[in-house]
Amino acid sequence: MTTNRQFRLARRPQGIVQRSDFDYVAEPLRDPVEGEVLIQVLYVSLDPAMRGWMNASTDSYMPPVAIGEVMRAIAVGRVVASRLAGFAVGDHVSGLLGVQAYAYSDGQRLSKVNPALAPLPLYLGALGMPGLTAYFGLLDVGQPKEGETVVVSGAAGAVGMLVGQIARIKGARVVGIAGGADKCRYLVEELGFDAAIDYKHEDVAAALKRHAPQGVDVYFDNVGGDILDAVLLRLAHGARVVICGAISQYNNMSAVQGPANYLQLLVKRATMKGVMVADYYPRALEAVMAMGGWIRAGQLKTREDVVAGLDTFPETFQKLFTGANNGKLVLQVAG
Ligand code: NAP
Repeated sequence: MTTNRQFRLARRPQGIVQRSDFDYVAEPLRDPVEGEVLIQVLYVSLDPAMRGWMNASTDSYMPPVAIGEVMRAIAVGRVVASRLAGFAVGDHVSGLLGVQAYAYSDGQRLSKVNPALAPLPLYLGALGMPGLTAYFGLLDVGQPKEGETVVVSGAAGAVGMLVGQIARIKGARVVGIAGGADKCRYLVEELGFDAAIDYKHEDVAAALKRHAPQGVDVYFDNVGGDILDAVLLRLAHGARVVICGAISQYNNMSAVQGPANYLQLLVKRATMKGVMVADYYPRALEAVMAMGGWIRAGQLKTREDVVAGLDTFPETFQKLFTGANNGKLVLQVAG
């Protein structure tokens, strides 16, 4: 049989992830045992959460990846050998397959995907975990109403670009916050956002005053830090702040910058609530049907940033933190 190639966590990264934080190893493959499938990994999803999984902290929603363990990641692949009822050779599947060329699975949290219905990378983006996060985080937690102003940060990324478009579909005014003129232009000209703020070159507070003169009714926060603080100062009465993530803080979780302006929640009778996508997996079909319908109808655009080569994993992963990714970042392992 062929050889597997795997990225195993070698040490806990300090700051931005480096190649030396991993061992890139070759492992002989074995046949699957009874109750197992062997999957050839085709596309690996690179998600900001993976940075948190590399830390030692135990007070998270998932245990850390152990030193020496294959780096945890969602991926899609093709079954190449099966001794598990319900999974046949040739089936395409999605699950926590890891940053590796082949993965074994006992079928737990493994779901089938259909490449005839959508390109495989889409199952890691709009039709996968980021899509569910955007859909339920915005609609269940944010609850935007027609005519309200929705602000989303990380707006040109996997989750953010969907949040903004769903908010538009629901009749809200949408302001995106993203890094750089190109991303901001993309949001307004291609995705139909009402306005975009380039936080790398603009004063976010002043721009928010211009673009959200009546205040922000829903803020979908992907980045935390200074941007969260700036938006808190512009909340409308009864605003809802959805805490989806805080990527500006992920490379130094021992000194997380909390929101200094949180008393605005009191003044504006606002709420701030976290969203955890895993809570919504039982309702996944609802989101996938809605997103699929909007994509087919041309109302929702998707964008996948597919980088070829398993061996590029550490450098490709860095793109999430430098902002070099355009849309959902995916590593192509095989085609
Ligand atoms: P993404 O937006 O596709 O990629 C990350 C983006 O973050 C980068 O492109 C960059 O865009 C921006 N960024 C990086 N460092 C930043 C900084 N210091 N300040 C401001 N922006 C920064 O990633 P994603 O997969 O969609 O994830 C977005 C957020 O959602 C993350 O916080 C993630 O942890 C969270 N998330 C949460 C859940 C949940 O269940 N709660 C599920 C999925 C994702 P710019 O070029 O615009 O800077």
